[in-house]
Amino acid sequence: MTSAILSGTIKLLERDDKMKKKQFKAESKKLLDMMINSIYTNKEIFLRELISNASDALDKLYFKSLTDKANEIKKEDLEIRISINKEERTITISDNGIGMTQEELETNLGTIAKSGSELFKENNEKQKDIDIIGQFGVGFYSAFMISKNVVVTSKSIESGDAYAWESTGVDGYSIEKRVKENCGTDIVLYVKDNTEDVSYDEFLEDYTIERLVKKYSDYIHYPIKMQEIKKEKKEDSEEEIETIEDKTLNSMIPIWKKQKSEVKDSEYQDFYTDKFYDYEKPARIFRSVVEGKCSFTSLLFIPSHAPYDFYTKEYEKGLQLYSKGVLIMDKCSDLLPDYFSFVKGLVDSEDISLNISRETLQENHQIKLIASGLETKIKKELETMLEENREEYEKMFKDFGMQFKYGIYSSYGMKKSDLQDLLLYISSNEKKYTTLKEYISRMESSQEHIYYACGETVEKIDLLPNVENVKEKGYEVLYLTDYIDEFVFKMMQDYEGKKFMNVSDEAMDLDSEEEKEKLKKANEENKKLFEKMQESLKEQVSAIQFTHRLKNHPVCLTSKGEVSVEMEKVLNAMPNNQKVKADVVMEINESHEICQKLEELFKKKDFDTLEKYTKILYAQARLIEGLSLENPTEISNLVCDVLSK
Ligand code: ADP
Repeated sequence: MTSAILSGTIKLLERDDKMKKKQFKAESKKLLDMMINSIYTNKEIFLRELISNASDALDKLYFKSLTDKANEIKKEDLEIRISINKEERTITISDNGIGMTQEELETNLGTIAKSGSELFKENNEKQKDIDIIGQFGVGFYSAFMISKNVVVTSKSIESGDAYAWESTGVDGYSIEKRVKENCGTDIVLYVKDNTEDVSYDEFLEDYTIERLVKKYSDYIHYPIKMQEIKKEKKEDSEEEIETIEDKTLNSMIPIWKKQKSEVKDSEYQDFYTDKFYDYEKPARIFRSVVEGKCSFTSLLFIPSHAPYDFYTKEYEKGLQLYSKGVLIMDKCSDLLPDYFSFVKGLVDSEDISLNISRETLQENHQIKLIASGLETKIKKELETMLEENREEYEKMFKDFGMQFKYGIYSSYGMKKSDLQDLLLYISSNEKKYTTLKEYISRMESSQEHIYYACGETVEKIDLLPNVENVKEKGYEVLYLTDYIDEFVFKMMQDYEGKKFMNVSDEAMDLDSEEEKEKLKKANEENKKLFEKMQESLKEQVSAIQFTHRLKNHPVCLTSKGEVSVEMEKVLNAMPNNQKVKADVVMEINESHEICQKLEELFKKKDFDTLEKYTKILYAQARLIEGLSLENPTEISNLVCDVLSK
């Protein structure tokens, strides 16, 4: 043991109570077994993981000291130390950070890191390949890839006592009291013996450790120190003298402060997966330096997939906020609008004071300036992505596109001009994603509206009678499958002056003047028939009429006014009790044989059969729309009745 932090202060105390071995949770055990027993080639990442935890612990202590003046800490005093003992085959990683209490040792190390286990579950369902471990950092547990035994001794800033957590990584762990002078954590790894395939000795060499720190942890902004023995020849003698000196292994220059040309893509990727707990590299990395009223550097990432908790309340948006290279806030939510909440990354500004508080953040002028600058940058980056790599953009949109829609909806359309060009919809044109800009570029100049239809799936929408006719007439239709879609169009009202029109809107009319005239006449002539039919349906529909909008189908439902049948479905499924009703019109295909039948029944005054026909037709229309029947038994009996005649 060499360092001051480690110095012989750790002594075994009398055991408080009879030491009990505790078992790992089942999930942790499964992952541990996989990790320890797989011939996993990337064993070296253990060091990156442990250093990253140490650095986090130092950050936490530093944060605390900013708000708690009683605990003043000088940044220069915070450090990480690594020492090697070849005889005992140990590597020790120490930090003088925040430390862990007994409970924290138990929950943090006794259960596998939450992020890790969630990923494990997710991946386990997808693929059974053992190499999945290689895709993401598994945190502290990676220590067991090279260790037969691990002892974590920690003293928390919150408690006077120190505790040691010990485990072989196989059959549970134990915790006992120890003496430790300073707060912080020492992790002692008892390195495995060499096997036929792997030489673990390699990790006990200074140069290996040095290489690994340079490779994975160079940007860590606390010094990672190791002691080095220097041998010097005495002047005019052959005798050598040895001096022990501290050597700092990392450059400590944050990755975003380095020259762009100096940083490889893979370094940004490693930085991202390490800092933002992702196991896949990001879809986009973009960095910018802004000089002006408020100068800042930003390094942002668009993840390649949604985190498992993205659509839950637990997900916290935000960017890391640094002031001159010092992390002052881990998730500064004011830097990102909700619709870009999936963006990860950091901002470093000289114009932000170190002790900015969360309370005053929202009013902070600098933060506002940075946030607005970032919003423009993110939007531009997404647009470039859409242009340059359509496939990647579509993948991103499937995961995060809902955010853009919410952005327009919740701002009552105010964010329309910012977000509308980021939207994608599947269209009847090749059933592929299209932007609104692309849609209108394909429109004939005479087309006044952007047509859309709503439904559960693209396949179901494609079969809707209303859609069939519009397509037949050569128009393109957008297929809206998210429940929020139509509400967003209502908020937007139009795109580049072209109004949105639901193909099921009663006002939808693609007839020629002549056809319109013919239909009007037919509807007037049959007014009495419709009134009679309506008696059977009562207030379920506000009108019944003939239509030209159908090609082969006999009947459909349309709606008048603001609320469509689809919106009625969505609104009524909401947990509040405000039920709404679409103003529904039942429309019957004027060129379908059923019309003659209805007219005949009316003329014969066979109102009983007419009622049955009406009810069946209405039920059919509802089913086609994806609506349920209020009384399926009645309809079933009616159909049987009619069939048996
Ligand atoms: P993760 O870092 O992804 O949360 P880990 O398994 O690496 O997962 O660590 C679990 C937790 O243990 C950390 O979140 C942290 O709270 C705690 N921890 C680990 N190492 C240290 C340390 N050196 N000092 C203080 N706390 C630590």
